[in-house]
Amino acid sequence: MKKLIAGNWKMNGSLAANAALLQGILPGVTAQACDVAVCVPAVYLAQGQALLADSPLALGAQDLSARESGAYTGEISAAMLRDFGVRYAIVGHSERRQYHGETDAVVAEKAQRALAAGITPIVCIGETLAEREAGSTEDVVKRQLAAVIHLNGHCISEIVVAYEPVWAIGTGKTATPEQAQAVHAVLRAQLQAASTQADRIRILYGGSMNATNAASLLAQADIDGGLIGGASLKAADFLSIIDAAS
Ligand code: PEP
Repeated sequence: MKKLIAGNWKMNGSLAANAALLQGILPGVTAQACDVAVCVPAVYLAQGQALLADSPLALGAQDLSARESGAYTGEISAAMLRDFGVRYAIVGHSERRQYHGETDAVVAEKAQRALAAGITPIVCIGETLAEREAGSTEDVVKRQLAAVIHLNGHCISEIVVAYEPVWAIGTGKTATPEQAQAVHAVLRAQLQAASTQADRIRILYGGSMNATNAASLLAQADIDGGLIGGASLKAADFLSIIDAAS
């Protein structure tokens, strides 16, 4: 299946820095064999929409509200994201689970809101170091994914899953290709039990993926792309990862 490389800019950038970064990336993504997206801070969606118009680079958001509309100060709805041409939205990133108390149930609701608005949710799941060391990696990721399947089973083939071991995010410690593949295979089996179309659901790996390690991770049978944090902020590194996926 066509791989997906999605950049997660997190809370980085400025009007000037974003323009420079996209100017560095865009010439390199003319005829890629993979899909590419950048998930930008919400205040820069209008800039992203303008700069990415008619380009093969898709626009993504980093979060969305679990609510449809109304008295939820500070929140941004799925419909608002659609207004700006957003195609993907990260939901349940470990930083939102950790710092904003997002539960499995809230993450599932956010995925549902995205799907209802025609936005592909990139559902992030992954274990902490303590959970891995306690031998509960499989239980944790299956529980996290089960909540999303439970609420969205009828359209589960429309989601993207991102397996992001928390201990590998922003730490420079990458899961080995074998460690990542082992978890991806578990997730694939769980999706297969829920959907006849599970083989077309992309399961991305995320966690310190970079220009050096991308090819070996992306060569694994059930790794269908990457969610890239730090390395998506440097055009040359991001383009190398895109090349490895193409
Ligand atoms: C992420 O935040 O989704 C991520 C994978 O970050 P990094 O690539 O910096 O580890």
